[in-house]
Amino acid sequence: MINRLFHIVALTMCTMFFFTSITYAKPTVYILATGGTIAGAGTSSTQKTEYKSGSVLINTLLNALPEDIKEIANLQAEQVFKIGSQNMQPEYWLTLAKKVNSLVASKEVDAVVITHGTDTLEETALFLNLTVQTTKPIILVGAMRSSTSLSADGPKNLYDAIVVAANPQSANRGVLAVMNDTILSASDIMKSDTTAVQTFTGINTSAIGKVWGKNVFYLNTVEKRKYSTTPPFPITSIKALPQVDILYGYAGATGKAVDSAVANGAQAIVYAGVGNGNFSDSVEKSLINASKKGVVIVRSSRVPYGATTQWNEVDDEKYGFIASWWNNPQRARIIIMLGLTKTKNKQELQKMMLEY
Ligand code: GLU
Repeated sequence: MINRLFHIVALTMCTMFFFTSITYAKPTVYILATGGTIAGAGTSSTQKTEYKSGSVLINTLLNALPEDIKEIANLQAEQVFKIGSQNMQPEYWLTLAKKVNSLVASKEVDAVVITHGTDTLEETALFLNLTVQTTKPIILVGAMRSSTSLSADGPKNLYDAIVVAANPQSANRGVLAVMNDTILSASDIMKSDTTAVQTFTGINTSAIGKVWGKNVFYLNTVEKRKYSTTPPFPITSIKALPQVDILYGYAGATGKAVDSAVANGAQAIVYAGVGNGNFSDSVEKSLINASKKGVVIVRSSRVPYGATTQWNEVDDEKYGFIASWWNNPQRARIIIMLGLTKTKNKQELQKMMLEY
């Protein structure tokens, strides 16, 4: 009897797996290309010479994929930018987010894949996560080796990104990134190694899933995306983004960099402090002065892991500073840029830091 029950359960599980992995209708995945190493090309395959990011067009990259990609999805592609992501700009984020937002609003598009340099991929991912209105999958993908290098990782990463985008399980999870068999969430991702193929990691959690061949596995119970129906900062209502600068702390740092950022028009400063968002007395004096002039000051940390908390060595309430909590400086900057399009209220901005 137990044996028979086991067979029924096993058969049901196999059938469920079969249905989730194979029987969905072939979706249309729209690919937006922005450049990066995934589209990089050089004269040598051994990376001993320079290569140029963003020089190979998306159709060439797609033609290099195995033929069976056409069984997974109908593909459409568009070249939006041709840049190394070190040249990504807030204005480009506005263009990209508007484009993605209108694509996912269309019945003809089931998912969007964005090819992107890895240097700032996590920033674009967070920006889109907070501004695009959809439950459809949006996947960022890059590569660490250029398309002409030995053992290039781009073709497999692009193939995997399309597989993840086409899988219905990827819906309603916010913006995701796919690299080196791994799926990460825009709400917790950072580049952790300057050159290794396995570079993306969660800051406070781990990868949320894996892709293997044509199969997608979500391993962690991730909270469903909270902002799918109404993102906190709908892109349709954003015209421009304020200047927010990041400054880096170190032993012996003075307030001169802060003073100069203020003089150059920063509307907010994210200070990547030492330890739990600390800074020298000289930096503190300049930050207090900046805050009095109406510049929003966010305390973050140069330490890669852990939170920059309120209620530690710095009296945030007294000086009107904001603590970045679980956000590293580059994430905190995006949240403040978007936050400032809505409010300058410190309590509200602090709340956003905890929420996003
Ligand atoms: N600077 C390049 C970029 O971000 C290299 C990093 C990469 O794409 O892997 O576009």
